[in-house]
Amino acid sequence: MPTDRYCVFGNPVAHSKSPRIHALFAAQTGQGISYEALLAPLDGFDAAVRDFIAANGRGANVTVPFKEEAFRLATQLTPRAQAAGAVNTLVFDQGGITGDNTDGAGLVRDLKHNLGCDPAGRRILLLGAGGASRGAILPLLLENPASLVIANRTEEKAARLALEFARLPGCAMEVKPEGIGFGQLAGRQFDLIINATSAGLSDAVLPVPTFSFAPHCVAYEMLYGRETPFMAQARAAGARVADGLGMLVEQAAEAFFVWRGVRPRTAPVLAALASES
Ligand code: NDP
Repeated sequence: MPTDRYCVFGNPVAHSKSPRIHALFAAQTGQGISYEALLAPLDGFDAAVRDFIAANGRGANVTVPFKEEAFRLATQLTPRAQAAGAVNTLVFDQGGITGDNTDGAGLVRDLKHNLGCDPAGRRILLLGAGGASRGAILPLLLENPASLVIANRTEEKAARLALEFARLPGCAMEVKPEGIGFGQLAGRQFDLIINATSAGLSDAVLPVPTFSFAPHCVAYEMLYGRETPFMAQARAAGARVADGLGMLVEQAAEAFFVWRGVRPRTAPVLAALASES
């Protein structure tokens, strides 16, 4: 029986854990799929996708640096992809190319189900105003936090992002996000601080005051696979710290569900990955 083909497009992509994660999901659920990592040329993402569709590709994940290109390529978008302005999951069928974004849902699911940290009623600080931050805003707002502050090195980007989501058509959310610069964090406390900057990649220290970590604060680093200065800083401030491996597995599970209509169990996959790293 022919298997349904899926892949992840990226550049670079050899390091991707997605083929391993989806192989574990497929074995667990008995779904007959294949999943590979495909290196798309930096100037050849669209052609790579079309070649894959022609070779019976049913769906794809998209990672750095192609999430915005995937957004433009899709012939239709889910509301969460529309809000995120980026696509990490593509579905290919008779209806064309559907673009979805499962990153934010993966983050929220990791927080709630794996870490026992329900965003509801929490004062949330989201650090960063790039693609990862943008994808997290709507899913976090839909969880009814007490407040959501977006702080960014470039203050105007945070302010613009907050305004955009405060005005999101069709969304009657109680909480309107606020966008500020790091300098305005003084004297403010949060119950959940999410680092969606890429500062950890260069071991840069973020100017987040120790006071900002409220008692029982959860500090979430979206990066995974390394101890970042943010994680060390949060630990020193007494926060409970998690990295983004759970988000990676949960966004993959959400994509698997979108493609196959079956939701895999993530706990054994997370445990397998943690033991392999
Ligand atoms: P972008 O390049 O779109 O955004 C980068 C953000 O980081 C900007 O807000 C930028 O601020 C800020 N930044 C970069 N360097 C510094 C620094 N030295 N000090 C302060 N702020 C800094 O990246 P993404 O949003 O795509 O990714 C962000 C992180 O999230 C990455 O580390 C990525 O690996 C991770 N991620 C994890 C996922 C998972 O599944 N676990 C999924 C997606 C992303 P400015 O605007 O001022 O330049």
